[in-house]
Order: sequence, then structure tokens, then C-alpha cells
Amino acid sequence: MRYGIFSDVHGNLEALEAVLKAYKHESIDRFICLGDIVGYGADPSQCLSAIQRLNADIIAGNHDWGVAGISIEAFNIYAKEAILWTRERLSAKDKEFLEHLPLQYIDENIECVHGALHHPDIFPYLHTIEQAREDFNLMKRPVAFLGHTHIPQVFTFAAGKAQALRRQRVLLSVGKLCICNVGSVGQPRDGIPLASYCIFDTKKKLVEIKRIKYNIIQAQSKIKDACLPEFLATRLGQGR
Ligand code: ZN
Repeated sequence: MRYGIFSDVHGNLEALEAVLKAYKHESIDRFICLGDIVGYGADPSQCLSAIQRLNADIIAGNHDWGVAGISIEAFNIYAKEAILWTRERLSAKDKEFLEHLPLQYIDENIECVHGALHHPDIFPYLHTIEQAREDFNLMKRPVAFLGHTHIPQVFTFAAGKAQALRRQRVLLSVGKLCICNVGSVGQPRDGIPLASYCIFDTKKKLVEIKRIKYNIIQAQSKIKDACLPEFLATRLGQGR
């Protein structure tokens, strides 16, 4: 089985299209979207339809719930403005779809949340080994996938030792736990302005995070034309 797992598209259609095109060469059996389809970018409904057409399993991100009308208190000023803008652009049907997304995905091989396994309902960020340790204790499968920080990263736990890796390829082995942050399709924040996406091959036991170029200029000009905060366009060029 080959999984295509991606997160944090954030209404960036140019980045999403580049990732979906790349996935076409990867013989993916099952797509999983880890949430935050909308918010920040100028094409929220187009991104939602493209992901629905994939037949992906989709879980909720904080922005999806924010747009659907569930509390936006915790968002910063740019996120709040983008959420209010996005609400106006989505149909009632789209908002209802986002509102009813589940918080977790689990199957025979993997488990997924948007933020972290502890309290998936309040979307905590998982940045550090200490935070990862809390999640290792809760894992029901040897490998878990998440997003939310927009920083691709892998945490492993084996023989009592936890490690944070910035590696793009990690091999699973018996007795090893792995938490993989797949990064962000539409708004990477690790200083690399390339769309991030993940592939997990259960036969090879290989987790891979890949990066791909997309038309940043076009995504930026759509954000400016939409009168969304200029910073949301600028940051795409910086990958921050
Ligand atoms: Zn996000």
C-alpha cells in the first residue's frame, strides 16, 4: 500500500496542483489530507473541490473549523482576516462539509491528526522532542502523521531514545515508533519556499517527505488581487 499524505494546503491552488501532479507518478493507493485546506490563500473552494475529487480521507484543521464558524479566538490577526474573507467565498455546503470533518484518522497501518495526538480537538503544536514523547505514549500504530506547524520533521522513538530528525527519508523497523510531520503544501515555514508532501510505502516501510516547485508568483498575485493581507503573499516567497 502506498499512501499520499499531505497537509495545510491553505487555499493555495498553485501549490496543490503541483503536488497532485507529482503524486500522479507515485502510484498512490490512498490519499489522506491532514486538514487546513482553507485559510490564507485565495482559492479555498477550488482547493476543497480538488481534494474531494481525489477521494481523500480528510481530517479537520483549526482553519477548516474556524471557517465553518467554530471559535476563531485563538487565531492571529492575519489568520482571522483570512478566515473572515474565506467564509464569504465558500458555499453553505462547503462550510457544512468542513464543520463535520473528523479530528482523527486511523486504519490498519497508520494514525493521523492535524496537530498532535494529545488533545487533537484543541490543535496543539508538536515542535519538540518533549512534546513528541507525550504523543509516543498514545500511539496505537507504529507510525503517525500530522501537520499544523508547516515544518516537515520526523520524530522517532526506539530503545528508550527519542530523536528529532530533519531527514527526508525514514525507514521504519520493528520496535520503532515514528511521528511524521508532513509539512505544508500551501504555506511552508521552514525557510524553503517549496510545497511539501509525503509518501508512505508500507511494503518498503519507507516514509518520504518530498518538496516541489510551484508557481509562487501566481499564488501571490491572487492573494494581492483578493485584498487579503499582503504579508500572506510575501511569506510564500520566503517559505516563512
Ligand atoms: Zn495550517
